[in-house]
Amino acid sequence: SKPIVGFIGLGNMGAFMASNLARGGHPLVVHDLDHQVVEKVKERARGHGGIVDYAKTPKELAAKADYIVTMLPSSPHVLSVYTSENGILSAVKKNALLMDTSTIDPTVARDLAKTVHQSGAAMVDAPVSGGVGGAEAGTLTFMVGGSVENFQRAETLLKLMGKNIVHCGEAGSGQVVKVCNNLALAIEMIGVAEAMNLGVSFGMDPKILAGIFNTSSARCWSSDTYNPVPGVMPNVPASRGYTGGFGVDLMAKDLGLASSAANAVRAPIPLGSQALQLYNMISAHGGGKKDFSFVYDFLKKQSEK
Ligand code: NAD
Repeated sequence: SKPIVGFIGLGNMGAFMASNLARGGHPLVVHDLDHQVVEKVKERARGHGGIVDYAKTPKELAAKADYIVTMLPSSPHVLSVYTSENGILSAVKKNALLMDTSTIDPTVARDLAKTVHQSGAAMVDAPVSGGVGGAEAGTLTFMVGGSVENFQRAETLLKLMGKNIVHCGEAGSGQVVKVCNNLALAIEMIGVAEAMNLGVSFGMDPKILAGIFNTSSARCWSSDTYNPVPGVMPNVPASRGYTGGFGVDLMAKDLGLASSAANAVRAPIPLGSQALQLYNMISAHGGGKKDFSFVYDFLKKQSEK
């Protein structure tokens, strides 16, 4: 039988990723502060051979698992789940492989890998791109930081959740690549939202606008896969009240990471800084939990005033 996989953090992304591991035949032991999300995973894994068990703490989970995947909001959550009194490291098996797929500070990721290795287990950082749709379909891109040996061990499991598994370099380098990706994404989404809002304000049909973008030089993921205007595409957050996607607060978190990384090497990020201000403003107006494509709605309301 296949090795037991522990999964901690069953939110918008993690619930789908964990179900895909169960569907791949791995017995699962899961943990989240929110007990209800466990039922969601059980439901999706039903009939696919994966047995889903609940652990009350990361410690209880770590005692059972040969592989552990974490998918948590940000650096403090990750540090707490790994290093607190009832954390993973208080009971981790020797030679277990730990994979953190959250987007966190690259420096924190590098230091955490060091701590994990001292405890006799192995670790890679493996943040993802592809959104909730990619998590559900099992087509995520994983950006992996760690030794070649640990990358190769991780690859087999990550393939059950993703399509593109890329070794980026030593510990922490997956996070560096991810932070750069989201810096570009944040700016692109605002660009698409701003331009779509201008056209719609002129009375243009948003589907015609988006259709031209997607076959012209404005084409990008924010336009052709995740369009921010309600009704332009089915199955995107914009078409379901900006729910079930990538939160504004999480994007602001990633822009904060980009900002401190930029300070460390003195790389200018003029548009990234402006993007951070805009997402913070949306959050201050109560939109922090909405999907980040909500920037379209925010700009639209400004132009209606
Ligand atoms: P989410 O807020 O939907 O899910 C986070 C989950 O972690 C929640 O279920 C929460 O209850 C749980 N959690 C928080 N603290 C915990 C703790 N101490 N112990 C146990 N469980 C805890 O977030 P998400 O959208 O799934 O994103 C998770 C990570 O993935 C973030 O770092 C985000 O930046 C990154 N990411 C998200 C997307 C996306 O499209 N949503 C895409 C790529 C990367």
